[in-house]
Amino acid sequence: MVEPRQRVAILGATGSIGNSTLDVLSRHPERYEVVALSASSSVDKLFHQCLTYRPRYAVLADGEAAQGLQQRLAAEPDCDVEVLEGAAALEQIADHDDVDVVVAAIVGAAGMPAALAAARAGKRLLLANKEALVTAGRLFMDAVEHGGGSLLPVDSEHNAIFQCLPCDERARPDLSSVDGLVLTASGGPFRGKDRSFLRGVTPAQACAHPNWSMGQKISVDSATLMNKGLELAEACWLFGVGEPQVDVVVHPQSIIHSMVRYRDGSVLAQMGEPDMRTPIASCLAWPERISSGVQALDFLAVGKLEFEAPDTDAFPCLRIARECIAAGGSAMAIANAANEVAVAAFLEGQMGFCDIPALIDGVLETQALIEPDSLAAVEAVDEEARSLARQWIARQSQSFGATGSL
Ligand code: NAD
Ligand code: MG
Repeated sequence: MVEPRQRVAILGATGSIGNSTLDVLSRHPERYEVVALSASSSVDKLFHQCLTYRPRYAVLADGEAAQGLQQRLAAEPDCDVEVLEGAAALEQIADHDDVDVVVAAIVGAAGMPAALAAARAGKRLLLANKEALVTAGRLFMDAVEHGGGSLLPVDSEHNAIFQCLPCDERARPDLSSVDGLVLTASGGPFRGKDRSFLRGVTPAQACAHPNWSMGQKISVDSATLMNKGLELAEACWLFGVGEPQVDVVVHPQSIIHSMVRYRDGSVLAQMGEPDMRTPIASCLAWPERISSGVQALDFLAVGKLEFEAPDTDAFPCLRIARECIAAGGSAMAIANAANEVAVAAFLEGQMGFCDIPALIDGVLETQALIEPDSLAAVEAVDEEARSLARQWIARQSQSFGATGSL
């Protein structure tokens, strides 16, 4: 009997993960049908994706952009795509009856409500949007459990750990014989640099990642090591462990994507080229394997695998994240919101690279922690932290004179 095709919705289709996902899907048209694509406001990119993949729905978060897309598609013969707009439409797609697989690839906390909706609806959920777990971990994991679907981690480190663990038919991992997890980190573009160097770095330098090609926000997070801090929180929620059980090791080659230590002394690692099409294909087909377009790993070309400790003096974001995870409650949601504002301000040239951890610390100091027990409570924490972060930037630029970088 021929298996029906899996119907896929990609939230954040025009980004780095979205494009890699479409690349893998297009290699397997007999297995997958693209039902919905979404973007924030990039009409041109989404228009071309609509012509190529012919989804049933295209969603733009921005209303004006949605009108623009509608007009361009109307001029195309035989292109029957329904254009939807706004954040509510993302949630509508995420729990649509005609969608089997949701790829959550929006960047930032903005992607959390739709990812949560997919979890509640019991979809097969491919989670790239780590901020959903960082901000609403408990709600999110409860939603996955009650929704009855499968949560498959796309983030390369978590995907590596997932691949090294036994799990049940719903992809729930079994850690009963596990001693600890090891997250690998590339160290980013500024590995080995000190604070005096870091003070002067530009957004272009921060976005030039040595091994991975990614969106701007996660590239800056990789440069500050905040990405590893967010991933630490993500690992704790996904695998049900405390932060002391998760080590972070810098591995500049990005060939080992992360590891699991077992109680008998065995350590299992997952390796591959640093190309997100591998974890995406692994999640799409799990528990089967499909081709991804990624080239075979050439060990002789790699030559050596190195490991070193992260430098949390030069890159305090990893230390801040550990402290927030240990504190629990809303701490990581606050740190995440402050980080999103800080990264946007850094990218716009409004503040320096070393101001990013200073701003996160500054916002955390002023906030009492709570245990957010609803989507509305998480969103309120996020809003308040963003507003404090903007005030922090305004205060600092007043005291330093508003002349670009603080
Ligand atoms: P990106 O910036 O390249 O793409 C983001 C996508 O989200 C775009 O389609 C954009 O239009 C959409 N988007 C942005 N803001 C939105 C909003 N407010 N509402 C609706 N849509 C919005 O980002 P990316 O690098 O693809 O990363 C996406 C997510 O995957 C992030 O959470 C990131 O941490 C995670 N991730 C990325 C990689 C990678 O290699 N790029 C690896 C691991 C995890
Ligand atoms: Mg990662």
